[in-house]
Order: sequence, then C-alpha cells, then structure tokens
Amino acid sequence: MTSLLVTGISELVTNDPVHGPGLGVIPAGAVVVDQGRVEWTGRAGVAPAADEVFDASGRAVIPGFVDSHSHLVFAGDRAAEFAARMSGQRYDGGGIATTVAATRAASDDELAMNVARLLGEMRRQGTTTVEVKSGYGLTVVDEARSLVIASRFTAETTFLGAHVVPEEHAADPVAYVDLVTGPMLEACAPHARWIDAFCERGAFDADQARTVLVAGAAAGLQGRLHANQLGPGPGVGLACELGLAAVDHCTYLDDADVQALRDSGTIATLLPGVEFSTRSPYPDARALIDAGVRVALATDCNPGSCYTSSMPLCIALGVREMGMTPDEALLAATAAGAAALRRDDIGHLRVGARADLVVVDAPSYLHLAYRPGVPLAHALRFHA
Ligand SMILES: [Zn+2]
Repeated sequence: MTSLLVTGISELVTNDPVHGPGLGVIPAGAVVVDQGRVEWTGRAGVAPAADEVFDASGRAVIPGFVDSHSHLVFAGDRAAEFAARMSGQRYDGGGIATTVAATRAASDDELAMNVARLLGEMRRQGTTTVEVKSGYGLTVVDEARSLVIASRFTAETTFLGAHVVPEEHAADPVAYVDLVTGPMLEACAPHARWIDAFCERGAFDADQARTVLVAGAAAGLQGRLHANQLGPGPGVGLACELGLAAVDHCTYLDDADVQALRDSGTIATLLPGVEFSTRSPYPDARALIDAGVRVALATDCNPGSCYTSSMPLCIALGVREMGMTPDEALLAATAAGAAALRRDDIGHLRVGARADLVVVDAPSYLHLAYRPGVPLAHALRFHA
C-alpha cells in the first residue's frame, strides 16, 4: 500500500469546518491518501510528500456522493408505463406489481447483474456509497435473496417487505403485515442493516408502518421510512416520533411535520428525480432548510417512478426546481446523505475519512448544477 498525493486541485471540497463554513472549500488544494483514508488536506503549496502523485490539472475534487435511497434489486423495466404517464395518465404507484412479477421470475444471477450494472452507472457519475432496498420480492424467499444479493455490493441494505401488499394478499393486508413482521423479517434481518416501509395511502397506514418499524428494531434493524410522497399523511410525524435516521420523499408537509423534523433531527431525504419523472410538484427544500431541517438528496433509482442513477441530476434539480443553493445541494448529496445512513466515515474529506475522492471535470464544483446533464463527476479509483 502506497501513499498518494492528489494535487493541482482548483477547489477541494472537504465538508470540514476546519477549512470554513458549509463545504469547507480549499482553493488550490491537495489531499494525501494512505491506507484508503484521508491523511492530510490543505493548500497544494505546503503539501507533504507521498509515494505517488496524481495531478488533477486544475479540476475540482469533492467527497463521493452518498446515495441513501435506491431500489436496485429488480428485473425488467417499465418504459411503457413511463410513456403512458407522459401521455397524460396519472401515476398511482400501481405499476410495482409488474416489477414484482419480473423479479420473482428472475434468477439470482440476473438480479445480481442488474445491481452491478446500475452500481457501475452510479460510480461513473461520482457515487461512492449506495443504500439498496429489497421490496420487489414480497415473499420470504424473494425478499431474503434480494437482500443477500444486495449485501454482496453494499453494507447499506434495507429490508422493504412493506413496499406494497402483493396481489396474493390483497384480500387480507393484516395477514401480510404479520408475514412481514414474522417469518419474512426473521429471514431478512441477518442480511439487512435497515428496515423501511411505504407509509402512503394505497400502501401501508401509520399503524402498520409503526408495527413494521418496531418489529424491525426488535430484530436489530434501524429504521427509515417512505412518507408524504403522494399526499399529506402521518408518516413524517411517525418517523420523527420514532427517531428514525431519515424520512424520505417529504413532498407534502404541514407546519407540524416541519417542526417535528427540525426538533427530532430526523433527516428529510428529498428525491427530486421522482417528481421530475412523474411530472409532479417538487418538495419545498428551501422552506425546510430555512426552518432548520437537515435535508439530504438521493436518487430513489427504481424502474417505476424514477429510473435515474444520477446524483448530479438530483443536485441540478435541487438547485433549479427546489430553491437550494449549489452549496446546499452538494452538502445534501454528500454529508447529509452520510448522516441519513448514520455514517461518519463518508460524505466528507476530513482527516480519517474513507478516501472517496471524486474529480469534477471543471474548475469549480458549481458546474455540477450549472451544467446539468453533462457527465462531469467521476470517482477516482486507486490501484493501491
Ligand atoms: Zn423509494
């Protein structure tokens, strides 16, 4: 293992308060990496020597994106559903059954190859940590194998048996919740770090979501929740009451929801790719930030409501459509994403952090939002 000096950095974004408020930007910066960790950051002119040198040639370097919300274990796609929706058909979430059928019919290898393909896309766009949910199996066997496959690729795996009530349980949703909190949880808990539920009209109500989250906690899983995506509801309040790490979507919030988010410290993870891809109103990131709520950005990459793997797109949408400043959006895609996963070793480039360096092919990190749709961000690979 050799040490590496990355120098010639026009702007080094550290998210380290030692280097200033907000993004902690070091102009004309350098970073030394050793044993896969950040060993030093500062001005290039005073950088210590290292075994090898990489010249960023006047480009910006940022911490890798932390995508804290994705659904990558699935088969098939729903391009036709997207086309129908864009032709004026309203999206109601009912298309998940299509993906459930395709996922159950797929082999383990097919599912794993699809995860690998999407993770490759993410890495090529600057994402270095990804949370991956189950939720398209919805049987004991299919949820467990989804999580076994996901855990081959990431430590941040989430059991989402409470995604929707599958068709075969439509007549008896109570029995399905019993299955999720009983045998399914038992089979999935060894392969998951998190538990999640879709708390929304047409999916699971607040009592059912609470039952799932409490059962998960008893099995050693930490909680996160999908809530308030399609309309107002009790999900955000529930997430804050239970002290969950994050509650995701947060599109329809009332004043009490915003106050609960601020007071609990539960992170509001906004998924603007969903509103973009479903032609729906965006969550009000500006109001949340102004109220003192901590906001993260994630892709929600899934074959139905949002099939993007691009964190830079989410940054551009956060800035252009949700009133975030470029600095707030980058923090939300890095440090806040890490906090949404309760991780302290990623999402920043403080000394001791995992050396997840991403090069932006531009003189400033501002270009991530300023040049939407342009593939500027690349995770730097180390051969060490
Ligand atoms: Zn989701």
